Amino acid sequence: MHEALKDILDIQELDMKMIRLMRVKKERQKEIRQIEELRKELHLQLTDKEQEITDLGKSISTLEQKIQDINAKIKRLESQQSSIKKADEFNALTQEMTSAERERITLEQKVSDLVDKRVSEEELLEKIRDSLKTSEASSLALEKEIFSSIKLINEEGTILKNERETLATKADAETLQIYERLLRNKKDRVVVAIENRTCSGCHIVLTAQHENLVRKGENLVFCEHCSRIHYWQESEALEGSAVATKRRRRRTVNA
Ligand SMILES: [Zn+2]
Repeated sequence: MHEALKDILDIQELDMKMIRLMRVKKERQKEIRQIEELRKELHLQLTDKEQEITDLGKSISTLEQKIQDINAKIKRLESQQSSIKKADEFNALTQEMTSAERERITLEQKVSDLVDKRVSEEELLEKIRDSLKTSEASSLALEKEIFSSIKLINEEGTILKNERETLATKADAETLQIYERLLRNKKDRVVVAIENRTCSGCHIVLTAQHENLVRKGENLVFCEHCSRIHYWQESEALEGSAVATKRRRRRTVNA
């Protein structure tokens, strides 16, 4: 194997762990946002409902004020009527009183409808309050769990980062730079083995000449299909090396 690739392979393993870790972290942060959105939505429903009930109350008192005005008007007409002698004036007042009473009945009906509506809106408000309370209790527990898992992820991330920095200082700078550029592009393993004359990155079959170049390990050899860097695995030399242990471990995990 190309000498410089040995360190890069170890760095790559750490980078893969970091990528997986960050993916999990992103997922968990998304869950937090969803919880917050749900809570906001319920709060919004609650304040909307409260506003609706307040507005209903205002309409009811406006109407009640009107009814009082009409009552006062009717009383005034009654007292006027008692001092009137002429029949046509008396009848005119009677008519005015009748129409005032009719208006009062209409208003009273309106008030009664609005009061009914307020009662049912208040019941809805109670339901929203209840579900907010339940969902807040359960979401708080969930949030706590997510935050502590994010904390663990950050701790693990710091360890990985430090390990990587140590490895990076002893790796070949030029090869590392090439590797990092490829990694930014693919966000996946970019230094891959040739297995059965096939690129284990893109799974396209390679030529014998290409395989020979990789086997020699003198220069970096890139896959002509996916641009990944190829390395050759000597089965004997592999035993006991870091890569072998990792590969075995990966196989065991997969099995
Ligand atoms: Zn390839």
